[in-house]
Amino acid sequence: IRFNALGQVFKTRSGQTEALRDVSFDVAHHEFLAILGPSGCGKSTLLRMIAGLLMPTCGNVEVFGMPVTGPRDDIGIVFQKPTLLPWATVEDNIVFPVRHKTGHVSPRDRERAQELLAMVGLEGFGKRLPDELSGGMQQRVGIARALHMDPDILLMDEPFSALDALTREVMGFDLLRIFAEKPKTVVFITHSVSEAALLADRVLVMSGRPGTVGSEHIVPIRRP
Ligand code: ADP
Ligand code: ADP
Repeated sequence: IRFNALGQVFKTRSGQTEALRDVSFDVAHHEFLAILGPSGCGKSTLLRMIAGLLMPTCGNVEVFGMPVTGPRDDIGIVFQKPTLLPWATVEDNIVFPVRHKTGHVSPRDRERAQELLAMVGLEGFGKRLPDELSGGMQQRVGIARALHMDPDILLMDEPFSALDALTREVMGFDLLRIFAEKPKTVVFITHSVSEAALLADRVLVMSGRPGTVGSEHIVPIRRP
């Protein structure tokens, strides 16, 4: 990923909001980059740009050497709140993207959904409805859904922020185990310094107070 956004300005009712200014960084293949920074400094905006959900007002974003022009199948996203379809079972939620893309779900797709459920510690929960699961469990389903398309890049926007401290820690270790099995390029937004230190190869610290934005500072992390 080559990120080079000189600026992002949103038009609002009261005028304009600047969401991002002069943020440039690269993410290497299979690197885990964590992004820390105060609320409003533009972290979500940045992630939406990598996902192809938003174009920078000025600057450009490249993935695999090509400019990002829109959403793509090889980039998965996990949002802060679980965004599961409430009327669909856990398993149907996980295979939803593949159904959306190809129009049908193969037995292999369902088998893979079961494997991913086991991987995120939810074996046997495939036939449940999202409402029957706790917040932490629903967030795990969201991760399984993002992994089901086997994306090369996984973007995560404060995926654990709604969870209690212990669940966060367990989920952090789960992620490390999942990526040890199958490495991916990950961009992970968090408010937790310890989570960033546990998970990331590098941490990007964004500065700025709400409504304005400074530039970035990269801190390499050396794992023991
Ligand atoms: P963070 O994720 O770091 O909290 P965001 O990327 O969500 O920050 O937002 C950065 C700034 O841009 C904030 O001031 C926010 O209010 C503003 N902003 C984000 N999205 C929009 C939008 N669609 N329209 C107007 N302002 C926006
Ligand atoms: P949250 O922190 O969002 O409330 P947790 O993930 O900590 O949710 O789980 C809360 C409840 O769900 C606990 O009672 C826990 O025992 C149960 N639970 C969580 N994961 C599983 C699982 N894999 N199998 C069975 N029960 C689970």
